[in-house]
Amino acid sequence: MFSTKQLDSFKKRTTPFYFYDLNLFRKTLEQIKEHGVSKGYHIHYALKANSHPQILAEIVKAGLSADCVSGGEVERATECGFSPNKIAFAGVGKRDIEIEIGLKNNILCFNVESVQELQVIDQLASQNNQTARVALRINPNVDANTHKYITTGLKENKFGINEKDLPDIFKLLPTLNNIELVGIHFHIGSQIEKLEPFKKLCLRANELNDIFENKGYTLTIINVGGGFGINYSNPDENGIPDFKKFFGTFEKHINLKPHQQLHFELGRSVVGQSGSLITRVLFTKTGIEKNFAIIDAGMTELIRPALYQAKHEIQIISDHANRPEKQYEIVGPICESSDVFRTGYEIAELKRGDILAIRSCGAYGEVMKSQYNLRHEIGTAFSDETE
Ligand SMILES: *Cc1c(COP(=O)(O)O)cnc(C)c1O
Repeated sequence: MFSTKQLDSFKKRTTPFYFYDLNLFRKTLEQIKEHGVSKGYHIHYALKANSHPQILAEIVKAGLSADCVSGGEVERATECGFSPNKIAFAGVGKRDIEIEIGLKNNILCFNVESVQELQVIDQLASQNNQTARVALRINPNVDANTHKYITTGLKENKFGINEKDLPDIFKLLPTLNNIELVGIHFHIGSQIEKLEPFKKLCLRANELNDIFENKGYTLTIINVGGGFGINYSNPDENGIPDFKKFFGTFEKHINLKPHQQLHFELGRSVVGQSGSLITRVLFTKTGIEKNFAIIDAGMTELIRPALYQAKHEIQIISDHANRPEKQYEIVGPICESSDVFRTGYEIAELKRGDILAIRSCGAYGEVMKSQYNLRHEIGTAFSDETE
């Protein structure tokens, strides 16, 4: 929760703004080190979850690697201090200019998602007299049991190479002189709350690992991607995801060969619980059947509810003693009917000027903001206060 000092500082600020609890963030990174890095695992932070330079500085300090999905992210990662030999570059549609950025920086590897992309990287690497290190992103057809917009590892999804294309790949690879195959890569989706899909992924990864080994390839990188979920409904009690269980699942089920390294790409679970969107109630109004609370943050600041029907906890953090509970439609100011944060939400009676915290916004929050409706640029606040 928030301290009196933090609340006092919020009262002086223009809302809405993003707030990051660096103390919680550092503790989360400690858990990742304790349960993942200590086992020799390589943890790439997925920049797309939150690429704020101050967030990245903490991650660099913790010694993690980077997972990028655009040339811009590769540039941001290097600018913020990630060593290029710790950068993996994924993405189903890399432009030539973005591939060039990866080559120029001599990154750890490209996670390649199609046969054609493999050919293009070979060609561009050849023009630069370079050898590109490549991991093949294979679509394992494992159901992540998450929202359909964040499921990525089913055969109907656009991501990765299908197993049916492997014979072509095995024929093609020996002809590509500027490609070095260093690994295989998977990423089955995001906000995965159960461990079962990760177990299934391990079993598929083991099969594929054997297929490549039998073909005579020595893969050093087995990259199982990210997707570990966070608890959106109870952020105060579950501020840090259970990384012991998460990494333990892989430790138990993945079969690495002696020369192989296990790589992960985690975004949401690293930074999700450390961010909140702080907003004020602008107006309340009673509709025909519903009470509306119109707040000064909208889908332009946090699009997850509109895009994925995500439900974030909303807490009233300014003084609200002795107010009865009421049910609200908590909505933003944007001219779209999907600009709704919660419907039928039970919270203390709201009044104009109340300060609210929309919780669990550290990942896929600030990075997805837009200026739609010509909204003003919003601010960011960090606190490293310890309790
Ligand atoms: C988005 C993404 C991740 C991170 O996913 P999280 O659910 O935030 O952990 C990892 N790898 C790839 C390839 C991604 O696209």
